[in-house]
Amino acid sequence: MVVQSLLPPINIPETGILQFLFQNTHKTPEDRKLFIDAFTGESLTYGQLKDNILRFAATLQDKFNFQKGDVVAIYSPNQMDYSIPLLGTVAAGGAVSPANPAYTPTELAYQLEMTNAKILIAHETNVEMAVKAADMVGLSRSRVFVFGKNQALGMPPWSHVFMGERRATLISLTKEEANETIAYLCFSSGTTGKSKGVMTTHANITANVLQFEGFEGASINGDKDRMLGVLPFFHIYGLSLLMHVAIYLGTPVYVMSKFDLGKFCETVQKEKITFSALVPPIVLLLSKDQMVDNYDLSSLKLVICGAAPLSAELSQQTRKRLPATIVKQAYGLTETSPFASIERTDDVVDGSIGFLLSGMSIKIVDDDGVELPIGQRGELWLKGPNIMKGYINNPEATAECIDKEGFFHSGDIAIQDQNGRLYIVDRKKELIKYKGFQVPPAELEGILFTSPMVADCAVIGVYDASQATEIPRGYVTLAANVPATEETAEIIKKFVADKVVYYKQLRSIVFINEIPKSPSGKILRRVLRDAAAEEQAL
Ligand code: ATP
Ligand code: MG
Repeated sequence: MVVQSLLPPINIPETGILQFLFQNTHKTPEDRKLFIDAFTGESLTYGQLKDNILRFAATLQDKFNFQKGDVVAIYSPNQMDYSIPLLGTVAAGGAVSPANPAYTPTELAYQLEMTNAKILIAHETNVEMAVKAADMVGLSRSRVFVFGKNQALGMPPWSHVFMGERRATLISLTKEEANETIAYLCFSSGTTGKSKGVMTTHANITANVLQFEGFEGASINGDKDRMLGVLPFFHIYGLSLLMHVAIYLGTPVYVMSKFDLGKFCETVQKEKITFSALVPPIVLLLSKDQMVDNYDLSSLKLVICGAAPLSAELSQQTRKRLPATIVKQAYGLTETSPFASIERTDDVVDGSIGFLLSGMSIKIVDDDGVELPIGQRGELWLKGPNIMKGYINNPEATAECIDKEGFFHSGDIAIQDQNGRLYIVDRKKELIKYKGFQVPPAELEGILFTSPMVADCAVIGVYDASQATEIPRGYVTLAANVPATEETAEIIKKFVADKVVYYKQLRSIVFINEIPKSPSGKILRRVLRDAAAEEQAL
């Protein structure tokens, strides 16, 4: 059964991202500080932002013969002025491919090659790696620049190169162009394999900003609210919310170049932050770390958590710790630009990813692609104006996941209830099969997190030849002062066993110093699976 969003449809404006953001109806004052560095206090006003974007775009055209469709790669940690090269490139008719600043030269070279980037803007802290990557793909060193205030490797800081006198004129896009023109080439998180370059169009972004506003516009307001920006800008979640939504609504963003719990709490307290979008590992810290008690976080009225499952148990623990804060989930993918569903602020059901955004429809299907009735779990397929154009240079992968009717096959297992509320069970590929029964690792992780002995955890399936089945195994980082003994492992196993049906019980526990995670906040179970497979091969 195809289920439509319960919300009224939205009109997607027939313009590009820049017109949409800067000709908005919210009327942000020119002198409002929109991006503020949480560490140094330096800031960029709305007026400065607009002006600098047009200067950046003009330089691309005048100095670098930049053409429509050309790609600029940005390889930098979050910075207060990240929006300038980002939107400056889009203003010049180009596309931006933002890269993880921790990538090795080989990983960066892959992204440069896939996207055919013409210009690379690195940061003073990783410019050496950038140059190595540029050499690997034959990108001239004269096309590599340093983002930051200082010169590095003998190169001047980017502002000396890109902040010329001329301002570009904004080009208007027709509806067709907005649907065809690629603005971003973000890479998916690489949780299930090699990350894929996602082609996100102007129309995808404007649609998703409006879909988000349609849902959350009443709770986030440019005049009253302040966001804390800890999500990485290179990932679509941060890129969309902290850049596009924030500029559109005129909401100031306190930008953190790297996550630090103390600085996070200090900034919330000092700047009276009202809203932050987070990922489960940060929510976990907020619910468990003693440091949180030293701060007054009561201004924080709303936290949206996305990118990976947030269990009902962890939500409850967090609420006890932060009684003034509503913590709720959003769900999406790089391929859905990114928001697909959000939970309601006035009626939060823990563990749910909420309701489908306006203009979207879904199907929940079985392994053969047959639609299931409401209430049954199956793979979630999504359709709407925010579905990507496809994967760059990979028409086969695009054809595999977007069907003829335009439904995108998410690979996530979901359930929808009678009221339209959605729940993610886990990823299809990560379900453990124990003697024919399906065990969702995310559910077991949710329970493990609530044990006082557990600081962090992950669950995978490992093959046990003696029983000829996969068995659920928990990887646990122990809380301070808990001994890594057989007895501890037994207590933890029992803690889980008391709460689940017999086939979901953890059959083995391994203590580990740190759970591997992506910078976008996902547990990298594949890293644990590879390590387990290697052990078994020995
Ligand atoms: P790759 O596609 O490269 O393997 P990825 O799917 O992790 O990596 P992203 O596009 O960053 O890359 O993440 C999308 C995925 O994140 C979704 O398919 C889903 O599994 C997960 N996800 C996002 N939000 C939630 C949520 N609220 N609850 C559960 N899972 C979520
Ligand atoms: Mg994915």
